[in-house]
Amino acid sequence: MALIVQKYGGTSVGSVERIQNVARRIAKFKAQGDDVVVVVSAMSGETNRLVALADAVSGNNPNPREMDVVLATGEQVTIGLLAMALNSIGVPAKSYTGWQVAVKTDSAHTKARIDNIDDTAIHKDLKEGKVVIVAGFQGVDADNNITTLGRGGSDTSAVALAAALKADECQIYTDVDGVYTTDPRVVPEARRLDKITFEEMLELASLGSKVLQIRSVEFAGKYRVRLRVLSSLEEDGGGGTLITFEEDEQMERVVVSGIAFDKNQARINVRGVPDKPGIAYQILGAIADANIEVDMIIQNVGAEGTTDFSFTVPRVDYKKALEILNQIKEHIGANEVSGDDTVVKVSIVGLGMRSHVGVASTMFRTLAEEGINIQMISTSEIKVSVLIAEKYTELATRVLHSVFGLDKA
Ligand code: ADP
Ligand code: ASP
Ligand code: MG
Repeated sequence: MALIVQKYGGTSVGSVERIQNVARRIAKFKAQGDDVVVVVSAMSGETNRLVALADAVSGNNPNPREMDVVLATGEQVTIGLLAMALNSIGVPAKSYTGWQVAVKTDSAHTKARIDNIDDTAIHKDLKEGKVVIVAGFQGVDADNNITTLGRGGSDTSAVALAAALKADECQIYTDVDGVYTTDPRVVPEARRLDKITFEEMLELASLGSKVLQIRSVEFAGKYRVRLRVLSSLEEDGGGGTLITFEEDEQMERVVVSGIAFDKNQARINVRGVPDKPGIAYQILGAIADANIEVDMIIQNVGAEGTTDFSFTVPRVDYKKALEILNQIKEHIGANEVSGDDTVVKVSIVGLGMRSHVGVASTMFRTLAEEGINIQMISTSEIKVSVLIAEKYTELATRVLHSVFGLDKA
């Protein structure tokens, strides 16, 4: 008998039939004698619908506290429906919203972090033989305000619950049967990985592979949660992918194990700024003060006393960042502030890069051969990222997937 936390994403609970399917799968685990705690997302499309309503009513400027009040409703519907579906096939089940559990978070509305989880009620229900269903993506802060965890946050709810309950395994059921070498919807030749190391998964998630929210992977690493990605649409979950903490030899030999792309990027250029100490601070300090996260950064070597400065920000913050820089443009002595929000960051990831040279140059050559211009580059020990025009996303991902030997045999 095991204690399993299962998470079902939006597509997996996207219709009455799918919710009933999920109920049947949970019933199977129960019949085997397992204890099951389930985390569900809102039905597919629902969170987007709620975001659009909030934007429409507030002139695209929703109050963050009220935004969370609205966003959290999507998951409340699915926990109740799933509990009913389980009850109707004879499986006792009880639903909880985030605040009922309680999942305690900080107060950063729309991107809150989980501080701790009170598992008293869950343990009591499990002892009574019930399936416990918890709303993903939401929690409550110290002042009893409803909070949400950022898009894709139900993954993090599930892993955090698994950590708190010391579950034997956390199973993330989604609409693909595991973690692939790249997004299988973009590159049909992508292959499912039986295993992926925690470090590689962390990079892929942070570089834009939305199959797992980055914070869920961080939690799994911190608390050593056994984490598996599976398909909710296949009988046995498909093959699935285990996130492993061991780096076995065979995995070491692969130079590149996955490719991620992130369209949530916009590039900003500040040209002709005085080349003197403090200029990076003046530019990026103003951006940071507005709570905008900066990702890639380039400062050119100055010529004739001036230099150029480029960086990327999340696409949603593009206009705001331009506004801020236009306001301080004269003060910092810049000639021109411009930008482009039709860019994408494409990244190759692999532990094997540590011991191989020439990986980056293979990437640059391959893109050059396709006539794809590289605008920015950033590297770390196990990844290389390039910023390119968004229209080349598919082409770049496909050719890189092929050149690094990731295509299906
Ligand atoms: P859910 O609603 O279940 O949380 P998501 O849409 O958030 O599902 O995540 C699953 C999607 O992630 C897949 O449908 C796939 O298009 C995308 N994806 C991106 N990169 C990968 C990858 N490397 N492996 C698998 N899926 C990926
Ligand atoms: N429903 C939320 C979203 O769409 C959370 C999640 O699905 O993980 O982002
Ligand atoms: Mg998701």
